[in-house]
Amino acid sequence: MSKRYVQPLRIAIQWGFLLFMIYLGVRLFLFVRHFRSGGAAPFVPRADGVEGFLPIAGLLGVKDWLASGTINAVHPASVVILVTVVAVSLLLKRSFCSWICPVGTLSELLWKRGFVLFKRNLRPPRWLDVALRGAKYLLLIFFLYSIFWSMPAGAVAGFIYSDYNKVADVRLLDFFLHLSGIPLAVIGVLLVLSLPVRNPFCRYLCPYGALLGLVSMLSPVKVTREKMTCVSCGVCSQVCPSYIPVMAKERVMSEECIGCWRCVSHCRAMGALEMKLTGRKVVVNAILFAVLVVFLFVGGSLVGRATGNWKSQIPYAEYVRLLGQ
Ligand code: SF4
Ligand code: SF4
Repeated sequence: MSKRYVQPLRIAIQWGFLLFMIYLGVRLFLFVRHFRSGGAAPFVPRADGVEGFLPIAGLLGVKDWLASGTINAVHPASVVILVTVVAVSLLLKRSFCSWICPVGTLSELLWKRGFVLFKRNLRPPRWLDVALRGAKYLLLIFFLYSIFWSMPAGAVAGFIYSDYNKVADVRLLDFFLHLSGIPLAVIGVLLVLSLPVRNPFCRYLCPYGALLGLVSMLSPVKVTREKMTCVSCGVCSQVCPSYIPVMAKERVMSEECIGCWRCVSHCRAMGALEMKLTGRKVVVNAILFAVLVVFLFVGGSLVGRATGNWKSQIPYAEYVRLLGQ
């Protein structure tokens, strides 16, 4: 059966999450406005899911959790979301990148627009592509080294409970609300580059994607090609957003595979390309895959709530002190 339907389904899920994340951002904006207006603007509770935008706080929280045995009360949701995303990648490849992440959604929109505009997407020469892909691993090593190696557990705990970290989400909001100078130029360049090149930020610069890619190597599901039924049309390789030469593989083992199913959904040869469980002949159903991605991601937050590790315990008076100035 054709799997064409997977792409509209995936894109609907992507945009659903994108709209939800915009809603989280608006809620944070209204929350901050209340305190900065000295209480004149109505109080809107902060949605804790916004901590998904704080992966560094999540990493710090994981280290603190390992050292203390408890998840910190400042940004507990950042830890829960990070652990959930890693668990999703362990089971279902980097599906977070192609089904949920808002950066991935916007990036995909741009390279598809670029394809319409220029009739093709560009790929940097192999030597440059390999060198640039190394950048995200260097960033990942930098963050992991800084947090898990060079920072003592006491310093991590001290930072987590610092005024700076308590309003890390507000700082991020302010950063995007007042973009200017070099950050604005860098984002502008990345947006422009995202038209001719597929997912340049995800592919070259995102340390989160680097981490998930390494974890996803252990995933039991892989795109698998059946040589006997493949007609060597090359469509799978052409449509892959990660430039993986799918047609030349029997099983896609690459850490760059974002589990988007584009190759599988575009293959017209019956049974030639499937998402399969590693080492077995079991074909993964696309609807089941989609349901699992969403349920595992949402389920992680439900577990966080149920165990009391979701809601930030920063009191109202503390926000008055930190944001009312
Ligand atoms: S799209 Fe299908 S038939 Fe064509 S090369 Fe890829 S696996 Fe083979
Ligand atoms: S190999 Fe297939 S599933 Fe993986 S990124 Fe490429 S198109 Fe998507």
